[in-house]
Amino acid sequence: MDIFLYDNWERQLRPFSPIRQEWVGLYCCGPTVYDYAHIGNLRTYLFEDLLRRTLELNGHQVRHVINITDVGHLVSDADEGEDKMEAGSRRTGESAWDIAEKYTLAFKQDFDSLNMLKPQIWCKATEHIAEQIAFIACIESKGFTYITSDGVYFDTSKQDDYGYLARLNREGIEAGKRVEIGEKLHPTDFALWKLSPEDSQRQMEWDSPWGRGFPGWHIECSAMSAKYLEPWFDIHCGGEDHMAIHHSNEIAQNQACHGTRLANFWMHGYFLQIDAGKMSKSSGDFLRLQTLIEQGFDPLAYRLLCMSAHYRSQLTFSWDALKSAQTALARLRETYLRLKDSGMDDGVISEEFSDKFLSEVNQDLNLPKAVAVMWEMLKSELSDAGKKATLDYFDRVLGLNLAQWVAIKSDIPEEILQLVEQRRLSRASKDWAGSDRLRNEIKALGYEVEDTADGIKVKPAA
Ligand code: AMP
Ligand code: ZN
Repeated sequence: MDIFLYDNWERQLRPFSPIRQEWVGLYCCGPTVYDYAHIGNLRTYLFEDLLRRTLELNGHQVRHVINITDVGHLVSDADEGEDKMEAGSRRTGESAWDIAEKYTLAFKQDFDSLNMLKPQIWCKATEHIAEQIAFIACIESKGFTYITSDGVYFDTSKQDDYGYLARLNREGIEAGKRVEIGEKLHPTDFALWKLSPEDSQRQMEWDSPWGRGFPGWHIECSAMSAKYLEPWFDIHCGGEDHMAIHHSNEIAQNQACHGTRLANFWMHGYFLQIDAGKMSKSSGDFLRLQTLIEQGFDPLAYRLLCMSAHYRSQLTFSWDALKSAQTALARLRETYLRLKDSGMDDGVISEEFSDKFLSEVNQDLNLPKAVAVMWEMLKSELSDAGKKATLDYFDRVLGLNLAQWVAIKSDIPEEILQLVEQRRLSRASKDWAGSDRLRNEIKALGYEVEDTADGIKVKPAA
């Protein structure tokens, strides 16, 4: 069955076919680790996870790369202001290196809690300085750069189709350049290498042919995608905000050095909003996954909530919607358990429903409809064994981890079930001390809890 994906380069749905037989290259712009990720950021990674799972369900081998931006992303996207990492260091009193480590770890925990498939390659900007310098040198050798007193800049006027991805109105931007552009020749020009300031000491800096300093934000993605996926690969993803600047600049860099626009497909996840405004890290007005967990929600309820809206439409977060998702998740788990208990394990996947499901996910990841197909299948006349097998098949994309979830038998008292659930949430947030405390509490009440490959099991203590 064909897969259709919406490509923002062409602004239309296109049938997907891989560039190479062996693997599909998928590059996703990763977090800037100066603070915790918010649930908006995580919505973007969830869409990317659904994309990867859909490709895999169709038999593709995906080579998935996510970068970690731990240097060079400045407070202003116009290449001005402080590096977000150095600003984060001032805010927290920890070193830029320490906060990078801390927020990278926290990000990966959130990633796991949402049951996202780990990329084959996580790569950090600070571990690829040589590759970035080589890439800048390549752009320089092709005549696309100029030097100012604070660094090396990309001259966007040298490319006729600069900004095509975002359909940028360059004349309009040029004409309206009331904003201070310093020594930059054009408002859309951007830094490839910034020199360290003379009046203050940076924590993260390196030698380069242009002087001691640090890479601009965009070069890391061109350099690392070229290293791990080649300079021409299948799909590049990010949030919708990346189109106008970050991705336009990545493309400009690749065009200059390699003559490619990096990726065959450019896909973007639309924003999660709160109260009709965008959720953003820099404004500080954001919700973390951990906050949802502390409010008693299962991270996978957030995953299910995100699947209720198409990735190309904005989604406004509400606690009520999350509650409904949590209720639906509980219903689904109970159904799964019932099917597992009553059915045989050798059920056959329903062709009718798997075709329906596949045609929805293959139509530009239409998850709201795919989830509807799932409920329809569960209400159908299929045998329990067939339903279970079909649900297992759907879960390869939905990622709700149903097989791992063994709900607890009804002869366990409600009070114990609640403690077991609290302990599960503690574990999901890696609160090991809390989890141990709850295990002891459960034990004191006469029950044992066990974490098995099949999920959580509870039984009266021996
Ligand atoms: P950052 O850590 O700020 O570099 O962003 C990480 C990813 O999250 C990028 O792909 C952004 O485009 C995306 N993103 C930022 N804010 C939101 C939001 N409110 N909703 C969805 N995605 C977002
Ligand atoms: Zn990027």
